[in-house]
Amino acid sequence: MSFLHLERISKAYPANGSDLRVLDNLSLTVEEGEFVVIVGPSGCGKSTLLRTVAGLEPPTSGRITLSGEVVNGWGRDRTLIFQEYSLFPWLTARQNMAFGLRLMGQPETERHRVADEWLERLGLAAFADYYPHELSGGMQQRVALGRALAVDPAVLLMDEPFAAVDALTRTRLQREVRTVCQGKTVLFVTHSIREAILLADRIIILTHRPARVRREMSVDLPHPRTIGAEEAALEGAIERELL
Ligand code: ADP
Repeated sequence: MSFLHLERISKAYPANGSDLRVLDNLSLTVEEGEFVVIVGPSGCGKSTLLRTVAGLEPPTSGRITLSGEVVNGWGRDRTLIFQEYSLFPWLTARQNMAFGLRLMGQPETERHRVADEWLERLGLAAFADYYPHELSGGMQQRVALGRALAVDPAVLLMDEPFAAVDALTRTRLQREVRTVCQGKTVLFVTHSIREAILLADRIIILTHRPARVRREMSVDLPHPRTIGAEEAALEGAIERELL
């Protein structure tokens, strides 16, 4: 049995009296601890797919199971990180990271212990008491990552998380995310083929809308990755698939 299983998921939105079909009988399995990256043409349904797994959008048909249980609505076993940093501006970095634990009813000492551990792991220990507006974009996204991981979700969902930061910060974050997500099950959406190659255990290429899985590719290259000959060849192959 797969850890995360999407079984013939379809999704349509009402539009001008008819239906806009966004996902079309899309099936996908993700194993526990796997880092899966989804790429596809712009507007094909990548974000919709992630929001459906998060439980924020019910599928029109099909079902999603996680550890054999049917996913029905939002749950703490899945956390979603967006391109926008979406931190609480009135909370410090430490308080943002501890937020999910507070919702779970963890005592303050435990919340601080876990938040401090993530601040340390993400190189933010010196910024624990800073507010989001006092942090760079890359730091804010690290806080968002720490906040998502602090609750130890079964699946981490990431929707273009590094699209808003500069190129150098993006490269750093790509390295960090692989390190801090070691052993985590991750479903990551990007429009950057290069980013997919740098991060993925497996790349899922979607078709134009309505999205189905067009092709899957395992990437068996050691980390940290850089774009060398093998990676560039893979990049070319995926680009050709998407054209
Ligand atoms: P991608 O992430 O691949 O760029 P999206 O999943 O954001 O694609 O969107 C796929 C299609 O679904 C787009 O045509 C978009 O306009 C449409 N769409 C997304 N969300 C909604 C919604 N809540 N209501 C209506 N249409 C939507």
